[in-house]
Amino acid sequence: KQSRKIDGDKVDLAEQSLLNKLIRHSLVRNRNQVEVLQRDPTSPLYSVKTFEELRLKPDLLKGVYNMGFNRPSRIQENALPMMLAQPPQNLIAQSQSGTGKTAAFSLAMLSHVNPANKWTQCLCIAPTYELALQIGQVIEQMGKYCPDVKLAYGIRGNRMERGIKLQEQIVIGTPGTVLDWCTKYRLIEPKKITMFVLDEADVMIATQGHRDQSIRIHRQLTKDCQMLLFSATFEDSVWRFAEQVVPDPNIIRLKREEETLDTIKQFYVVCKEKEDKFTALCNLYGSLTIAQAMIFCHTRKMAAWLTANLTKEGHQVALLSGEMTVEQRASVIERYRNGKEKVLVTTNVCSRGIDVEQVSLVVNFDLPVDMDGNADNETYLHRIGRTGRFGRRGFAVNMVDSKHSMDIINQIEMHFNRRITKLDTSDLEEME
Ligand code: ADP
Repeated sequence: KQSRKIDGDKVDLAEQSLLNKLIRHSLVRNRNQVEVLQRDPTSPLYSVKTFEELRLKPDLLKGVYNMGFNRPSRIQENALPMMLAQPPQNLIAQSQSGTGKTAAFSLAMLSHVNPANKWTQCLCIAPTYELALQIGQVIEQMGKYCPDVKLAYGIRGNRMERGIKLQEQIVIGTPGTVLDWCTKYRLIEPKKITMFVLDEADVMIATQGHRDQSIRIHRQLTKDCQMLLFSATFEDSVWRFAEQVVPDPNIIRLKREEETLDTIKQFYVVCKEKEDKFTALCNLYGSLTIAQAMIFCHTRKMAAWLTANLTKEGHQVALLSGEMTVEQRASVIERYRNGKEKVLVTTNVCSRGIDVEQVSLVVNFDLPVDMDGNADNETYLHRIGRTGRFGRRGFAVNMVDSKHSMDIINQIEMHFNRRITKLDTSDLEEME
């Protein structure tokens, strides 16, 4: 399993992605331009503003509308016509999670299959069991009015009899099981696959085994098979992999909106030790009218200690911590979003993917540092920065408890070239 270790908690890429899916109920807004690189630059660039323009089967269109989709998302505007084009075109698409990629390729698969043909025509692979199930749910929901289109899950535990070909037109699964189904069990005839979807390529290649299995599946397909690859991020490694899997691609990219500190007033408070920080935090919270606050700690232990003490003081506090299951984390975030708790205490691991518009105060109870103890500017920006859509003002308060942490504040100040002002928590007028 690929993971990065930060602040004593591990960030598992696949888990993070699943969490994102569990807590997201709508498209993220992104005002950047979609970049399109066409394989054949002389052919006209098609984009659609409505689902009607795609001339989908009526039952499929009904399914799309039934999901509450009124019009294609930004990347769907360009990706859908390419994926549905005749003759088929290959596609590499990159955009952050929540921009409509899954819905796009689900629609493409449902539109692509011929329900009269009782064999597997579309193959889709995802990095984990849970992610495959999530995609399957979208296909099932969108294909609700297409009863002749059937879906099979190529995931562990789904035992099949050898040699009997599947009749399901769409198979979604993880690389290991899908590879077995193609080779060992011969449930799928790879030569009959006409659409291949590889989702979450960045997460996929983070695991060597998945990467190899994906390539082995890919090798069995014909060169006429339409290849579609999706990724939330695009480092060089993802790019190299994508080019291996997708020949002659069209490329669509939507860059994530930059986060900024422009609308954030930043402060620091000098404290002695954690009890002192706690008192400062209570003063702060008591004297401000704050919609919601998020408090970051360095370790799980500190987060638990702080949560217990804030609760003792009568605050409604939620704790988000790395040892929780993804489902538990999703439910904590959900409750916090709905305002059931006003304060969320967390370690770093959980901060990404939580966009809570009403958060007006972020407290770095512990400052973000990298492995070498230097300022972790990127994490700092993630914790307190806002993208354009949350243009509202907010406060960030940093707890400084040593000369070292004062140095970190100075580093952060220099890096972003934004003033971090000293705050006296017994006199909070300057914040209002
Ligand atoms: P991604 O795969 O890029 O993470 P999803 O396809 O999961 O994005 O879409 C993110 C969220 O937006 C989901 O809740 C999905 O139902 C919704 N969504 C997708 N496309 C549309 C659309 N065209 N209109 C409205 N909502 C959409």
